Amino acid sequence: MRVEELPVDERIKRIILERGIEELYPPQAEALRSGVLEGKNLVLAIPTASGKTLVSEIVMVNKLLREGGKAVYLVPLKALAEEKYREFKEWEVLGLRVAATTGDYDSTDEWLGRYDIIVATAEKFDSLLRHGSSWIKDVKLVVADEVHLIGSYDRGATLEMILSHMLGRAQILALSATVGNAEELAEWLNAELVVSNWRPVQLRKGVFAQGELFWEDGKIDRYPANWDSLAIDAVKRGKQALIFVNTRRSAEKEAVSLAPKIARLLTKPEQRGLKELADSLESNPTNEKLKKALRGGVAFHHAGLSRTERTMIEDAFREGLIKVITATPTLSAGLNLPAFRVIIRDTKRYSNFGWVDIPVLEIQQMMGRAGRPKYDKVGEAIIVARTEDPKKLMDRYVFGKPEKLFSMLANESAFRGQILALITNFGVENFRELINFLEKTFYFYQRSDTSHLEWKAKEIVYFLIENEFIDMDIEDRFIALPFGRRTSQLYIDPLTAKKFKDAFPKLEKNPNPFGIFQLIASTPDMGTLNARRKEMEDYLDLAYEMEEKLYVNIPYWEDYRFQSFLNEVKTAKILLDWINEVPETRIYDTYNIDPGDLYRILELADWLMYSLIELYKLFEPKKDVLDYLRDLHLRLKHGVREELLELVRLPNIGRKRARALYNAGFRTTEDIMRAKVSELLAVEGIGLKVVEGLFMHFGVELPKASKKSTEENRKRRKGTLDDFLK
Ligand code: ADP
Repeated sequence: MRVEELPVDERIKRIILERGIEELYPPQAEALRSGVLEGKNLVLAIPTASGKTLVSEIVMVNKLLREGGKAVYLVPLKALAEEKYREFKEWEVLGLRVAATTGDYDSTDEWLGRYDIIVATAEKFDSLLRHGSSWIKDVKLVVADEVHLIGSYDRGATLEMILSHMLGRAQILALSATVGNAEELAEWLNAELVVSNWRPVQLRKGVFAQGELFWEDGKIDRYPANWDSLAIDAVKRGKQALIFVNTRRSAEKEAVSLAPKIARLLTKPEQRGLKELADSLESNPTNEKLKKALRGGVAFHHAGLSRTERTMIEDAFREGLIKVITATPTLSAGLNLPAFRVIIRDTKRYSNFGWVDIPVLEIQQMMGRAGRPKYDKVGEAIIVARTEDPKKLMDRYVFGKPEKLFSMLANESAFRGQILALITNFGVENFRELINFLEKTFYFYQRSDTSHLEWKAKEIVYFLIENEFIDMDIEDRFIALPFGRRTSQLYIDPLTAKKFKDAFPKLEKNPNPFGIFQLIASTPDMGTLNARRKEMEDYLDLAYEMEEKLYVNIPYWEDYRFQSFLNEVKTAKILLDWINEVPETRIYDTYNIDPGDLYRILELADWLMYSLIELYKLFEPKKDVLDYLRDLHLRLKHGVREELLELVRLPNIGRKRARALYNAGFRTTEDIMRAKVSELLAVEGIGLKVVEGLFMHFGVELPKASKKSTEENRKRRKGTLDDFLK
């Protein structure tokens, strides 16, 4: 179908044509003919990079221009929200406003009411639904990207509940990878179904074993025996490769060992560019490895990297500067990062149940990254058989069908929170109504026997009553109690809230960071780190040393909670180091964690600390304890000792600047207000922008003279403060 022929607003066509797209891909045409433009629900299951986003853009903008209202675009990851936000911004020329929202789960975000297209993570949108934001009633269309994540153990239930809530209230466009039971998904959503294997770049799949590359069509190519020859060969041909492995450490190891082999193939300008890139990284143990790899045109990509490094790697790969990326499967989830050749080194991974085969669905998602539209005619996806039988791999992953999706609603922790929300936030009045609602879910749709779910729901309701989240009147009607309502809005597991509540009496008597951090770390919302075997004794010693600070008893080693307790102690100790200003690099080294891990722990701890305070407020809080908790929260946010609290309350003053100011003798707001501009500028990390911000905060204009002379000097001397101050 030609773009010209699309039955949509002329302005939409014009923008698509301006992008240089004149012809729609066949599955796009099929999707747009399915009735979705007339308001029907649609499940679109086609491979990555075959243009799902464009379909959703056309459907969203067409609907908004015709009917007004709002469209919500749901993504699984924050990084994806940003990517989509940037893409959709282009439609603002038509007078539509685009917003993205991800963090802060305790807000109605009424400001979003002014926007037409709202990109949100599923969790964020779920929390907005619970807060009853007034603009939700205007949502006319929900696009669910990566809807196959309904089958994911941790994330699935949220997405399923959102769709159950919105079903019938808004049009639904669900975008999915190819799954085994797309029909079932479509039937549940009362949707049309478009399934296709069409791809803009042809995909050639094969299995590699000891130097022989068996293609799906029976052809065989020969290479040196080691599988890394596949990556080297791709680079020799002027192309790029993406290698998937099953652990972070192997991603790092393979990247570093490939680097010298790829380095030989680089041009001089490439070597220079890569060196520059490597030199720009701040130093920490993970980045040291990354630097080594980068100098050879290789990078690793995994959840342990911080956001800055990840984005840098993605950009440099797109530009072609980085030739090979070794990655854990997190990269295959949604990120738009194709390469000519995809090499899958591992088809097994370690889980709670030991080594398991990676699902076909996931391996096919990885394979789908092969082939760069516009650059490659064919993309190649190759699975490496190291110890496995190549034929088996071929049958399972190349010719095999992806698995069916199964509802994950019955996942205890997610279900607990969802049931509470139904009662406290969505006005479900009694058990019958609760079951009625659950009948709208995929879980009910999928299974004929729902007695298990009913039984589970009943157990959860008892738990909620017993712990005073809700109550029941004599006519068996639910009553939402403040504790329940607040827990649900805070978007934490009710079990977390219960743990907090149970600990309040002890906490009040003895508020201290270690006790509070262990409490936070012991909740199901905090993914703790593993204490390794050789560390266990140290953490046990630490726990005994700090015993009187804890709000729980130390379990005996036979106790099933023993290992998790030590994990909690480890996490608590990291948080303790953080607020005592231990440098980040030392934390990475001591606890053997990556920057991404620290970032995640801090983000979660920040949220849980906030929730703890909010819940404490419901139980006749003592003022001094509340103040103590608030100060501790601020210390946690910034990673500072108590003495810096006053300084970090100022704008743009974080951990490092506050410490520098303090050490330079500026210990209070008063000190800073009295200081000369030049004195402040002499402090490490304090530039003109920061000083301006501070003065603005105090409501004082920066003295004109100093501003002018500073600016002149900056220009003349490229902003080196030392020069300026001479
Ligand atoms: P998906 O969301 O399915 O992974 P995208 O929508 O991101 O895929 O599309 C991948 C790329 O293909 C984008 O760069 C997009 O601009 C381009 N594209 C989409 N539709 C067409 C088309 N009909 N013709 C040419 N390029 C297209």
